[in-house]
Amino acid sequence: MINIVLFGKPGAGKGTQAEFLKSQYQLVHISTGDVFRYNIKNTTDLGKLAQSYMDQGDLVPDSVTINMLEAEVEKNHDAKGFIFDGFPRTTAQAEALDAFLSKKEMQVTATIALEATDDELVERLLKRGETSGRSDDQDEAKIRNRFDEYNQKTAPLRSFYTNQSKFHSVNGIGTIDEITARLTSIIDRF
Ligand code: AMP
Repeated sequence: MINIVLFGKPGAGKGTQAEFLKSQYQLVHISTGDVFRYNIKNTTDLGKLAQSYMDQGDLVPDSVTINMLEAEVEKNHDAKGFIFDGFPRTTAQAEALDAFLSKKEMQVTATIALEATDDELVERLLKRGETSGRSDDQDEAKIRNRFDEYNQKTAPLRSFYTNQSKFHSVNGIGTIDEITARLTSIIDRF
């Protein structure tokens, strides 16, 4: 079983790359951002709770996010493995993921970061915002707030996974195919 955590700032290309990796390795792709957006669209209680945080570019509280992620994994008993996209984003989430997977005799195989500069990412996100309809992609102040959240809360996971010898990073600038090749060259080692 291969369980990959795709790591990187908003706009780094995690969702795009997950789509390719999921078919190449027959993995289940779980994007916590997508699950939240689905719940917002369907005006569930979870969606109502998440919306105010997401609209500001803040992280949704850990307890809510962790429960939601675990429920998504449980829905896929027969999965050959998972791609976690946008989770974990805090140390508490990473610890919860390790504990949850180990109860199921599973573990994170590798965490791979897609690296790009903030200026490149702002440009990509504003462009995406023109068609995605995502309010958090349409306003540079909200985008910068998402980067601040990342720097404060998510960046420490680099050392969390480095300490487990599971952290890898690839250049996230290039064509989609080039970046997929960089990712697969790492995943194929496992
Ligand atoms: P994304 O689609 O991954 O860019 O996520 C969009 C938004 O969903 C984030 O800015 C957060 O508000 C929320 N979100 C997604 N994943 C998480 C997570 N793991 N922890 C907390 N909030 C999250």
